[in-house]
Amino acid sequence: MSRIAYVNGRYVPHREAGVHVEDRGYQFSDGVYEVCEVRASRLVDAGRHFDRLDRSLAALRIRSPMSRAALTLVLNELVRRNRVVDGLVYLQVTRGVAPRDHGFPPARVCPAIVATARSVDRAQRAARAQHGISVITVAENRWPRVDIKSIALLPNVLAKQAAREAGAYEAWFVDTAGFVTEGSSTNAWIVTNEGTIITRSANEGILRGVTRTALFDILADGRWALEERPFRVEDAHAAREAFVTSATQAVLPVVRIDGRPVGNGAPGPVAMRLRGRYIEHSEPT
Ligand code: PMP
Repeated sequence: MSRIAYVNGRYVPHREAGVHVEDRGYQFSDGVYEVCEVRASRLVDAGRHFDRLDRSLAALRIRSPMSRAALTLVLNELVRRNRVVDGLVYLQVTRGVAPRDHGFPPARVCPAIVATARSVDRAQRAARAQHGISVITVAENRWPRVDIKSIALLPNVLAKQAAREAGAYEAWFVDTAGFVTEGSSTNAWIVTNEGTIITRSANEGILRGVTRTALFDILADGRWALEERPFRVEDAHAAREAFVTSATQAVLPVVRIDGRPVGNGAPGPVAMRLRGRYIEHSEPT
């Protein structure tokens, strides 16, 4: 079955889907994006992804390309046309197409919108969680506005590639004070020896992950102690467990950091319980 993409109002064969050479996303990374999980052919947590899209657009003063209702229709149609059961949708909005000039184009230039959908191998994802992942640490070198889900991802790209070349799955950025900020495409968490779950505050140096927020809802029942504060690489090394969260990976246990085992080197019970709870909690309705 051939894949279908959505490009500026049209559903087009994926292999022919393209944007103009003067799309400001292509030339300046002048745009934002969202990635939303699809489960049982439904969007997971779409409302929160749209909220974050609105915040990213507002922060960059890019007009919203269409209403939330229209966007929902487009993404659901894309899921349907691509027959995605388990997978993800990718949505990107840029400031539009205009002659290359750093300053904003005239107000009449419409934002450009692209969306794609694809299936993921559910069994492979589950196996990754069963084994746990390795992470490496890299120096934080991103701009301070990482709260905006901008398509300017070069530091994230280089960090992920460094992880791959080191035989790891993810890279954690570490700020100049020695604190972990987040992963190249995930939020970072640890569980201390006392059983306290720690993750950095979303007000400083990280993207407010939708999965992170959903996990906060789950943790609100008070069964687990949660502290929102920065942690150091050494804290992670000394932790009983570590894990990462993202819309496409849910909760993924971390079993090695820079080659050293976390806890006993196997996925931890808290991470695995939370993974199960998250998947139940975010069941699309
Ligand atoms: N941090 C970064 C840098 C990311 O790219 C992502 C993935 N979008 C996340 C955190 C996790 O966010 P979410 O749970 O919304 O996927």
